[in-house]
Amino acid sequence: MSEDRRVLFVIAHPDDEEKFSGTAALQAQAGIDVTIAVALNGNRGGLMGADPQERAETRHREMQRACDVLGAKLEWLGYGDNDFMDWFHNQYGQVEMTFRNLVRRVDPHLLVVPPPNDYHRHHVKVAEVAMDASMNASNPNHESEYAPSSMIPATLYCRPQMGIGFIPSLYIDISETYHLKIEAMKAHQSQHQYLKDHHRIDIFQTVETVARYYGSACGVEFAEPFALCQKFNRPASVQQLARFFPGQTDVAS
Ligand SMILES: [Zn+2]
Repeated sequence: MSEDRRVLFVIAHPDDEEKFSGTAALQAQAGIDVTIAVALNGNRGGLMGADPQERAETRHREMQRACDVLGAKLEWLGYGDNDFMDWFHNQYGQVEMTFRNLVRRVDPHLLVVPPPNDYHRHHVKVAEVAMDASMNASNPNHESEYAPSSMIPATLYCRPQMGIGFIPSLYIDISETYHLKIEAMKAHQSQHQYLKDHHRIDIFQTVETVARYYGSACGVEFAEPFALCQKFNRPASVQQLARFFPGQTDVAS
């Protein structure tokens, strides 16, 4: 396990990393150990005419390529798109165990999850179980095949899609890694036309618009916003947070 700065991003779907990919790339370049965990395998998104297995394999490859571009490690949890909510409601103990083991493998100092008001319930539920598991992971009384993690990690929320209803508490200048954010999104080739047809967006226009919008809010070209998780044990001191945002002279807004 490398050095003493480890960050774990937990998302529902392959391509959700777009919310923080510029920041993840900055962190990786600074020698921070970055892991992106993807809970669902995307087997119902895009690639019309393919079967779910083929879709999942394609999306896994695309997600690995995106992580390679960003310099992040990938943790692929592999829940089927149609199965996750069933697992969440009916086999919660097993889902929590899977996430607890993830947290124990990575042992993060900083956790980043989608916010509670995100539009997609997969995003919200994945964040919920990741928070729960990251609380339990450091408690040795919750046994599993992995050793307990060393702490309850400080936690930030990434923005929801388009930033709707989201009030950032910090902005990260990603102008230097914006090109990697675009390269990572290009890796999700199976999604580009699907997003046009199904979500009515040109994803590359959207990525640029949102990154420029948050950049304008804080006086740089491109930025990504995050919000502090205001729950017991989750806020971090400015000094602790600043370690994860190298090169940013003004971390708090
Ligand atoms: Zn998603």
